[in-house]
Amino acid sequence: MKKPFINEEKLNEIITKHPTPFHLYDEKGIRENARRLHEAFAWNKGFREYFAVKATPNPYIMRILQEEGCGFDCASYTELLLADKIGSKNVMFSSNATPDEDFILAYNNGAIINLDDFTHIEVLDKLCGIPQTISCRYNSGGEFGVEAGNVMDVPGEAKYGFTKEQIIEGFKVLKAKGAKHFGIHAFFASNTQTEEYYPVLAGMMFRLAVEIKEKAGVDINFVNLSGGIGVPYEPDKKPHDIFKIGQGVKKQFESIMIPAGLGEAAIYTELGRFMLAPHGHLITKAIREKNIYRKYINTDACSCDLMRPALYKSYHHITVAGKAQVAHDCIYDVAGGLCENNDKFAIQRSLPRIDTGDVLIIHDTGAHGYSMGYNYNGKLRSAEILLCEDGSFKLIRRAETPKDYFKTLDFSKDFDF
Ligand SMILES: *Cc1c(COP(=O)(O)O)cnc(C)c1O
Repeated sequence: MKKPFINEEKLNEIITKHPTPFHLYDEKGIRENARRLHEAFAWNKGFREYFAVKATPNPYIMRILQEEGCGFDCASYTELLLADKIGSKNVMFSSNATPDEDFILAYNNGAIINLDDFTHIEVLDKLCGIPQTISCRYNSGGEFGVEAGNVMDVPGEAKYGFTKEQIIEGFKVLKAKGAKHFGIHAFFASNTQTEEYYPVLAGMMFRLAVEIKEKAGVDINFVNLSGGIGVPYEPDKKPHDIFKIGQGVKKQFESIMIPAGLGEAAIYTELGRFMLAPHGHLITKAIREKNIYRKYINTDACSCDLMRPALYKSYHHITVAGKAQVAHDCIYDVAGGLCENNDKFAIQRSLPRIDTGDVLIIHDTGAHGYSMGYNYNGKLRSAEILLCEDGSFKLIRRAETPKDYFKTLDFSKDFDF
């Protein structure tokens, strides 16, 4: 059974002070998980996790990860500003369709630029020059799976990265332009449900590093396996054993990189979901109940607070506070208030009988939750609260107000608001 990371008493204490809906994060869980990741890859001297900022772009959360030794993976101008605001010196810039000003800021901030395309070499060279350390994103084309017949994703249809020929040629050009330290990067599948994803990807990337060494005369200094390690959203799934994943990558490293003289290379990751998803809950109240052809529970949160169910039909487990032990003998659609019928956190879900005012804990919302929020229907983004290690709690982002919603409009001239 999936259990919330917060007990009822503490939750009530928070709700008394901060109205629902809000995203709640668990500092203790975040730290423990980050430490396990670092232990799992401790065999690699240069290992670093660059947390994917887009998953949870809150500086308080980022600072916790920074204290645990993480750098940050940014993909836009504002994400670069965020990493800079918390004073991080370890930034990877893995963008695509990159505007000039983003390249310039990344360069000026000393981020490691991970180029998404062959043509970006010349763009960057003209804008800033080629930095000493540079990375290129690989796209293998075709289909990707960890075993024959199991297609996890189709890189051949993905917009990212260089082809094999382009990446080899790219490193020749980068070397000629004076680059000294080189990295490769690939991200082929999201929320992977097998512990083989990283080891198989690593094997492919290590072989690519050897080929680049042979054909471009460039020693790869780091291999960035990017994000993609999944988490168990469903209650019958188990979390991945990160030590097993680390050992799987090590085995590939020892059999491919070390014999090729590339044993000094560092492994980088850019995990988002794995770092944060299980350590966040969306806390919402049942505000209305309606019975038509189905039974509905309406919440004060909606898809604007958590888009994944509407966008991907994702499962998010729901615990009704104080009723975990009560028989789950009611079948509900749990729906928000958007004028969109896909605005449902659960469809035909067995839950305990829910009364108006009950608090619902929606699990695994710590990554790609708040950050995918939006303002459709004039819904305002919720607050974010941190449950600190010592049991205290802190508002780390206030909820939006109508004033925030209107602040990009200049009414003063034309409307009498
Ligand atoms: C989204 C993204 C990540 C993080 O992915 P997760 O699935 O959250 O681990 C890492 N790197 C890049 C370039 C991404 O786009």
